Amino acid sequence: MRELLSLEEALEQVLEHARTLPAETVPLGDAVGRVLAEPAVARVDLPPFASSAMDGYAVRATDTPGSLPIVVRVAAGSPSSEPLPTGTAAAIATGGAVPEGADAVVPVEQTVERGREVEIAEAARTDAHIRPRGGDVRAGDTVVGPHVRLGATQIGALAAAGVPEVRCARRPRVTVLATGSELRAPGDTLAPGQIFESNRTMIAAALAGSGAIVDLLPVVPDEEDAHREAVTQGLDGDMLVTSGGVSVGPHDLVRRIEAELGVREVFWGVAVKPGKPLSFGVRGATLVFGLPGNPVSSLVGSLLFVRPALLALQGLLDPRPSFERGEAVVALRRNAQRDEFLRARRRLEDARTLLEPVLGQESHMIVRAAFADALVHVPRGVGEIAAGEPLRYLSLA
Ligand code: AMP
Ligand code: MG
Repeated sequence: MRELLSLEEALEQVLEHARTLPAETVPLGDAVGRVLAEPAVARVDLPPFASSAMDGYAVRATDTPGSLPIVVRVAAGSPSSEPLPTGTAAAIATGGAVPEGADAVVPVEQTVERGREVEIAEAARTDAHIRPRGGDVRAGDTVVGPHVRLGATQIGALAAAGVPEVRCARRPRVTVLATGSELRAPGDTLAPGQIFESNRTMIAAALAGSGAIVDLLPVVPDEEDAHREAVTQGLDGDMLVTSGGVSVGPHDLVRRIEAELGVREVFWGVAVKPGKPLSFGVRGATLVFGLPGNPVSSLVGSLLFVRPALLALQGLLDPRPSFERGEAVVALRRNAQRDEFLRARRRLEDARTLLEPVLGQESHMIVRAAFADALVHVPRGVGEIAAGEPLRYLSLA
């Protein structure tokens, strides 16, 4: 029997071949989900000026307590052009620029305004309720470092720091195709022996959410010419992901046709269940994945290998699958040869994450998998993982 590559070795081999794509300039509004290629630095101090954190009165702390004439009213966006004279107060709104000379803001709730004066009963603390200039970031400092994927928080920070566009690795162009003469599109009528195609759409969905520009090809029947044509097309991009046709049957043509078209196979077969016959190769800089046709195998292969490769092409700092920690509610038997991935339901109880495998773990049971929100990793080995023992899982949510 052929020696299978371990999960870890297979992932390392994939990542070794995934070189970060060249960078391009992206308007900030389009940059969510993109990975920064260079540090993005603040264009200004933030806040750009000392501003009030409250609606209230800007004063000199040494003038309080006391009754102070109100000499100016400062709204956000309308700073006072004059320094604050000693012994006076400036009415100020949240976000208003604290006038020169003032060193404290007294919140409106702690004052009484009478006529043109404000009564302040308590002594104000120096710097109270003032957001200092540059308190969040200094001009020229890094707002978001390289190799970080931009989410809403990072986008917000960059906008606040005056960054209109960022440098990001270009999005990988990925071709997804499914092989199988038995496959029909949902909505068609099934003839005897046919099934609905699901992997193409599922893989495309998984990858589109990870930054890929997906080109979805029509289903490829199990015929050599059709394979040649589709694979040739897919090899033009940064990545080709195929489904089906990588096992040992007479109709499994994918690897042979790929080899014929210049793909160098890096490995075929990984010690994981489901997903064992997965193949990985390269042609030039194009990464080529052959996922097994069983839908759950395709799903697991996408999450364990294809998505990490996609993130690596975009330069993410750690593109490996991000496992979370939990515990199973039942004992899980280990497989001696292969790392296993079980579909499970996740439930939070106090501080514990409890994982309950769904019924029906066979690799064709994609609908059962849809009941699950976690993919539990059962490392290869002997015996079992007892209920309550710590383990890792990938979120499917
Ligand atoms: P294969 O890897 O081509 O030998 O296919 C393994 C099993 O998965 C067979 O039962 C196929 O009918 C099924 N299968 C292959 N490709 C797909 C697909 N794209 N969608 C749904 N089922 C598939
Ligand atoms: Mg097939």
